[in-house]
Amino acid sequence: MTTNSVPNLRIGQGFDVHPFADDATRPLVLGGVAFPEGPALVGHSDADVIAHAITDAILGAAGLGDIGQLFPDTDAAHAGADSIALLTIAAERVTEAGWSVVNADATVILDAPKLAPHRDAMIANLSAALGAPVSVKGKRTEGVAGLGGGIQCQAVALLAANT
Ligand code: MG
Repeated sequence: MTTNSVPNLRIGQGFDVHPFADDATRPLVLGGVAFPEGPALVGHSDADVIAHAITDAILGAAGLGDIGQLFPDTDAAHAGADSIALLTIAAERVTEAGWSVVNADATVILDAPKLAPHRDAMIANLSAALGAPVSVKGKRTEGVAGLGGGIQCQAVALLAANT
């Protein structure tokens, strides 16, 4: 008789996009890092597409719904919210549901600004919030129509059962 040795893992995928804002006073925030060079993004919270995509990836993997259910954008309490703090709360919900985050990997689609100067700081913020390694990669739009009006992020996350 064979033993089922398949590990108890779950994968989740997340996507987010926010359009560029016409507000010079609003900061661009990616991975919890303010990019003074902008341009900023429109959003109810700080519009951090990386934090939002990873939040959806871990919630999806755990079967806990999505970021909009956990933090409705109709709730004034989330106006201007720090999305790293929201990711931290989502990670706590995932832990309470019996899962550990193994890792997350994000691809940010944008032409500017350059991520590289802030990559280590973004990774530090996201990894601390998640309690697991995170990687952040940048990808240009290559001039494809429709991809250049904002910043998009795709993310995957892997969870392992605690028991
Ligand atoms: Mg979002």
